[in-house]
Amino acid sequence: MRDFRSERVREIPPSGIRKFFDIAQEMEDVISLGVGEPDYDTPWNVREAAISSIEKGYTAYTSNSGLNELRDEISLYQKERFGVDYNPVNEVLVTTGASEALDITIRTVVNPGDEVLVAEPAYIAYCSGVILSGGVPVYVPCPAKENFRLTPDSLMEKITPKSKALLCNFPNNPSGGVMTVDDYKAIADVIVDHDLLLISDEIYNEITYEGMPSSAACVEELRERTVIINGFSKAYSMTGWRIGYICAPEEIAAAALKIHQYVMLSAPTMSQYAAIEAVKNGWEARNEMVREYNIRRNLFVNGMRRAGLECHMPKGAIYAFPSVESTGLSDQEFAERLLKEKHIAVVPGSIFGPSGADHLRCCYAISRDNLVTAIERIEEFVNEL
Ligand code: PMP
Repeated sequence: MRDFRSERVREIPPSGIRKFFDIAQEMEDVISLGVGEPDYDTPWNVREAAISSIEKGYTAYTSNSGLNELRDEISLYQKERFGVDYNPVNEVLVTTGASEALDITIRTVVNPGDEVLVAEPAYIAYCSGVILSGGVPVYVPCPAKENFRLTPDSLMEKITPKSKALLCNFPNNPSGGVMTVDDYKAIADVIVDHDLLLISDEIYNEITYEGMPSSAACVEELRERTVIINGFSKAYSMTGWRIGYICAPEEIAAAALKIHQYVMLSAPTMSQYAAIEAVKNGWEARNEMVREYNIRRNLFVNGMRRAGLECHMPKGAIYAFPSVESTGLSDQEFAERLLKEKHIAVVPGSIFGPSGADHLRCCYAISRDNLVTAIERIEEFVNEL
C-alpha cells in the first residue's frame, strides 16, 4: 500500500509540547508548568450568557462572519483600547479560536514558495501552518539580549525577494517579551519598504503587567497591511470555548471569509454569546486574573534568580523564560532530567526556535502553592547538579 499522507503533512513534526506531556501524564505527583493555559474557570457571567443562549434555543449557525453584536463589540474594543477603527461589517471575522484565525490567514496569503518571516521564539503552530500552505518559514531572531523584541536590523537580515509576510506574536509565547508602539514603529519602515503583510497574533495583549498593552495596528502605516489575530482564550480564561477573531483590511478579511465559509461555516454559536458578555462585562474578572498572574510572575522569576538561573522579567503573557546556560545542560537535557528527577514539567525553549535554546518555558498560571513547590524543586535540582 502506498503512503497516503501528503508530503506537507509528513514534513511537519508533531507538537514538541505534547510529546513531553505524554511522559508527564504517566507519572504521579507531577507539577506542570508546561501547558499554556490560564488556570481560572471562565467568569460566571460569561458562562451564564452561554447557558441563557442555549435555553433560548440559539443553537443554529450564525452568519458566516459571526453575530453582528459580537463584531460590533470587537470593533468597539479595538477602537477604545487601541484607537484603531475596524468596520464591523467587513473587517471583523469571528473564528473558532485564534488557531483558526491563524490558519485561515496564512492560507489566505501564502502561495507555494512564498517565504513567511516568523519572529522567534515563536508559538509552535506558525511554522507548521506556513508549511501546510506550501510556504517556507524563515525565522527572525528576537534574542534575550533584545529583551525578546523584534528589531529592524534583525528583520532586514532575513528579508529576500521571496518574503511575503511577517508573523509575530507580542506579548510573546514563550518568552513573555512585549513590543511597545515605538517598537512597532521601529519595524514599520522595513515592513512598508519591502511590501510585507504583518500578521500580528495579539492573543495575550490583555495580559500585560507594566503599562498599557499595544497593538501593531496602532501604527498608522501598518494598519492597512496588518492582520490582527486575537481571541478570548487567554484574557477571559475561555480556552475550551474555541472563539477568536481576525481584524483586517477589507480585501484580506473577505478572502479569509471564503476559507472560513468552507471549513467552519461559523464559530460556535453559544461561544459567540459568551464572548459578547466577556468583552462587554468581563473586565473585572480579567483585571483580577491579571493581578494574580502578576504576583505569580514576580514570585516565579525571583525564585528562578534565587536558584541561580538568569531570568528576564516578562512583561506580558503567562510565561517565564529562564536560561539554563549557566548549568551546562541543554534545555532538552535540563527539562528531561527535571521531569524524571523532580517531577516538574517545563517545555524546552529550543522547540520554539533557535533563540529559545538554553531556555525553559514555564507557565506560571498555576496555584501559588504549586508554584512555590515547583520553585523549591527546581532550586534543589540546580543545587544538586
Ligand atoms: N496564539 C498563541 C500565541 C497562543 O499561545 C495560542 C494558545 N496557546 C493561540 C494562538 C491559540 O489560541 P486559541 O485558543 O484562541 O485557539
